[in-house]
Amino acid sequence: MPRIDNDIKLDFKDVLLRPKRSTLKSRSQVNLNRHIVFRNSKQTYEGVPVIAANMDTTGTFEMAKTFASHGMFVAVHKHYGTEDWANFAKENPSCLNNVAISSGTSDADFERISATIKLVPEIKYICLDVANGYSEYFVEYVKKVRHAFPQHTIFAGNVVTGEMVEELILAGADVIKVGIGPGSVCTTRKKTGVGYPQVSAVIECADAAHGLGGHIISDGGCSCPGDVAKAFGAGADFVMIGGLFAGHDQSGGETIEREGKKYKLFYGMSSTTAMQKHVGGVAEYRASEGKTVEVPYRGDVNDTVRDILGGIRSTCTYVGASKLKELGRRTTFIRVTQQINNMYGS
Ligand code: 5GP
Repeated sequence: MPRIDNDIKLDFKDVLLRPKRSTLKSRSQVNLNRHIVFRNSKQTYEGVPVIAANMDTTGTFEMAKTFASHGMFVAVHKHYGTEDWANFAKENPSCLNNVAISSGTSDADFERISATIKLVPEIKYICLDVANGYSEYFVEYVKKVRHAFPQHTIFAGNVVTGEMVEELILAGADVIKVGIGPGSVCTTRKKTGVGYPQVSAVIECADAAHGLGGHIISDGGCSCPGDVAKAFGAGADFVMIGGLFAGHDQSGGETIEREGKKYKLFYGMSSTTAMQKHVGGVAEYRASEGKTVEVPYRGDVNDTVRDILGGIRSTCTYVGASKLKELGRRTTFIRVTQQINNMYGS
């Protein structure tokens, strides 16, 4: 007989943050920097823990150059070659503190990251990314990468439940990527019926990770700066974003002009577009689990970054958190049935 978990699980749209008495005079007093010491690598992170997703369209070197000036992070997509990395490192040595090289679980991936890190030893972060982080094979791959790179900080995912967060941390990962199905161009929930509301996933996974001295990334589902603040409030150490960073000058993806308007292509990494681009099409045994959309061109990503960081600073002043680190402790979520007045559009 199937089991039914009757506990209510919540998504960004189901909650708001309750304001609290605060001594802060202005949002300029809020410090968004985090100092994080990683459990397994023993390395430290210093910066604003917002990450551009390792998608073709957002995990670009151009994004990394811009994000460096904000102290933010980019999980660089896995389709840059070893030479591309070497050139990037030579021209932008200061950007290497806050970027990760990405990898799936194939032998070719392992060889590519090994060769790249050998050539560019300044790379400090490795992002191990699979759609389903629950497979034993993935746990073995995390162990293999930890063994080969004992001092690198390893991100691994995606999962949505505490027991798998613990297993991946014990296998050697430092930061666990949390989120199955919330992404703006993800169709996993439609195609498979699998998923977990993101706010509850983050609350539960953060608790599991922090209990072991590990950390988590809330990955996907942020459709506005308020959602990013909610993810931090729920306990995320980092928040990974795709859609909000799509459509900019620094984003990848073809530019399209129609009837005088500019758009940029944004697509999921399991979409037909991505699979055609990288592996020549969708394999017979699988379905695409991502969408392709045309995003209205949005100019320089600096403006979007300021909008997101300004939003989080403001959240912190509403709940009395002078540092981002305090936001989780100052968070009380209220469950809501409606959060936005749509009278003049959203
Ligand atoms: P967003 O910020 O756009 O809501 O979510 C970004 C996240 O969506 C990525 O970091 C990644 O975890 C996830 N994602 C990207 N492409 C795909 C895809 O094709 N299918 C699925 N299921 N998830 C994707």
